[in-house]
Parts: sequence; structure tokens; C-alpha cells
Amino acid sequence: MDEKKDFVMVTVSGPDQPGITSSFSRILVDNQVEIVDIEQASLQDFLGLSFLLDMSGAKQSKDGVLKDLLFEASRLRLTLNFRLFSEKEMKARNSKNLFILTYFGQTQALAEISNILAEENANIEMISNLTRHCAMCVELTINVNQAKNLSRLKSRVLAKSHELNIDLALQKMEAYRKNKRLVFFDMDSTLVDMEIIDEMAKRAGVFKEVSRITEKAMRGDIDFEESLTQRVALLKGLKVEELEKIRGDMKLSEGAEDLVDTLKRLGFKLGLVSGGFDYFSDFLREKLGLDFSYANQLEIKNGALTGKVLGKIVDNTYKAKIVNLVSSEQGILLDQTVAIGDGANDVLMLGQAGLGIAYNAKEKLERAANMSLGRARLKNILYILGISEEEMGDWSVCERPI
Ligand SMILES: [Mg+2]
Repeated sequence: MDEKKDFVMVTVSGPDQPGITSSFSRILVDNQVEIVDIEQASLQDFLGLSFLLDMSGAKQSKDGVLKDLLFEASRLRLTLNFRLFSEKEMKARNSKNLFILTYFGQTQALAEISNILAEENANIEMISNLTRHCAMCVELTINVNQAKNLSRLKSRVLAKSHELNIDLALQKMEAYRKNKRLVFFDMDSTLVDMEIIDEMAKRAGVFKEVSRITEKAMRGDIDFEESLTQRVALLKGLKVEELEKIRGDMKLSEGAEDLVDTLKRLGFKLGLVSGGFDYFSDFLREKLGLDFSYANQLEIKNGALTGKVLGKIVDNTYKAKIVNLVSSEQGILLDQTVAIGDGANDVLMLGQAGLGIAYNAKEKLERAANMSLGRARLKNILYILGISEEEMGDWSVCERPI
């Protein structure tokens, strides 16, 4: 026996005018038809309106209701299409595995991203524009129920950010829907546009030696703790006056101060989690009015570095632990946290946070992140957090407003 098809998807489209939704919903009320899903979009003067209707309790036959709707559409000079569904088909449609893909780019970005999605058998359910005067920041709702290989899809999409030099985020719908409240910043090459230890090494006259150890650590020959201990030992004797000069010359990344100010104004809690040094992170915390900072503690005696680090070394694992600790202390879910970093020792922290942002980072880090963000484009984080352009002030992303 054929399944009963009591659900009808109705789509009307055409020139927009006031009163369209009202006319159609009046017919539905009069016929005791329930709307179980609805979506309307208007672009310029063109309208697209979709209803998913449950006709099981309708006063007259399905055909009768559809005839009324078709008549109304023709009176309003709109096109109407419909499709029937059974309850079983409806249930299959409702168990969706959804992701939100946000990109900052133009037509080429859409062409290439949608091509990957098609090849990976992921369906775009909805497209919306987050920018007011240009389509620079576009958000796609993607259904990955039928996707061939989700992790390949993710890495292919994120790889596009490098290839096209655009910013891009891919988040699970559940995490995306949670309002973010807590932001963790890495310090070196993220909040500040420099590697402070390099500057210290230059002033201590050991730049080459320090760089050699850094390279070893980057190749994975020694771990972070070992490399930090060795490098700090080389800095022994560096005077506090030199540290003060570096502190005075510290340059924030482009957009960092505005980003911090905006987030603070909107009530976010913000802090630094750095594999660098407290002498600098504490200073930044005070200067920018951040809520907390964690970093390695330099031992200073008689006005100079002793070459030792006190307490626990803040490395990859410890950074992730801090994300956990601070969020639970604040009573904030991990899905409500954001972590931003650029380096290998940010991998776990980015993976831990609800939204992990790889900032001007290597592809390896991007794989652990939800978002790939280019240098000097920190402001784009605000769009990803759902902050409106009004709240951003005149800080809009549009390059070519229409
Ligand atoms: Mg860094």
C-alpha cells in the first residue's frame, strides 16, 4: 500500500509586496492546516517563501487546499510549487547532521566551496548573507547526512582558505548555536605581532643560538618544555631594563585592540594563555583590561634574568587544561568558548574550545581548528560570533559596498 502523504512543501516565489505571508496563512488557518516549518527570504524585491504543511487535519481535501493556495498565488502574480511527503520521509529529513560554513570571499569562493560540497555529497540547505551592503561574508547551512567522508570534506574546505587567501569557518550547528562568552588568546604572533623571545634573544646577543633551538622544536626534535628551558637559560643576565624596552615597543596585531574593546563592551570574558612570559602577558592584561592571563614565569634576581623558569611550564597540554579550568570556574560550557592561536602549542587549546581559530597559521594547525583566519583580519571573528555590524560600529568588512 502507498504511504499516506499528508505533508506538503509549498514554495512561492515572485515580486515581493506587503501582505503575501498574511494572505497564505489566512487560507491555512481557515482550512485548519498546520505549518510545521517555514522559511522566507527576500532579495532586493524578489521573494521566496516556503511552508511545510501538515494536512492531516485539514477541513477539506488536500487538492482543495492546494487549489485555494494556487488561486491566491496567481492573484498575487507569484509562482507556486509543491511536493508531497509521507511521515516517514519527514522523519528522515528531520534527523539532520548540520554544519555552518561561513566564508569571507566573493563569487569564486562560493563556486569552489560549493563544488567541494557537491563532490562530497553534502547538501546546502540555506544560504544567508551576514553583511549588509555586500556579499562578503556568507553563511551556508550544510546537511552532511549523506556526506561521503566528513573529515576529508572538512580538510578540503579549510584548505581553500590558504589557496584563495580567504577566511573560513566550519562549525557544528550545536556548537554554533551556543552564544560564545569566553575568549582565550595566544600572545606571540597572535595578540601581539611579534615573537617576544626573539627580541629578548637579540638584546641578549644570543639570537642565533635561540633560533636554532626554536627550529629544533618546530621539527619535533625536542619538546616545547625542553626548548623553553634551553632558550631561557641562554637569556641569563638579560637586564630588566631591556625587558621594559621590549614591553614598551610591543606591537599589537592589526585589529587586536578594536577586537578586544568590542568584545569587552559586549560582555565577553577575555584572557591570554601564552607559552611566552608573564612579564609581558601581565602587562598586556593590565593595559587592555583583560580578565586573566597565564604564561611562564621568568625568575628575576638583582634586576636581571637568572635563566630559569619558575613553576609549571605552559605548553600545549597545559594551555588546553587552562581552557577547561577557566571555563568551568566561570560556569561556561566549552561550546561557549573561543580560542585563537597561531602555533604548534595551540593545537590542543584550539581543539578544546567550541570555536578554535587558527590565526595566520600553518595548515597543520588549521586541521585542529574550526576557523582559518588570515593576518590582520581579526575583525572577521566578530561576524563568526554573530555580532551585528551596528554593534561593530563602522568596522564593516565590505570592500565594495553596493
Ligand atoms: Mg603564538
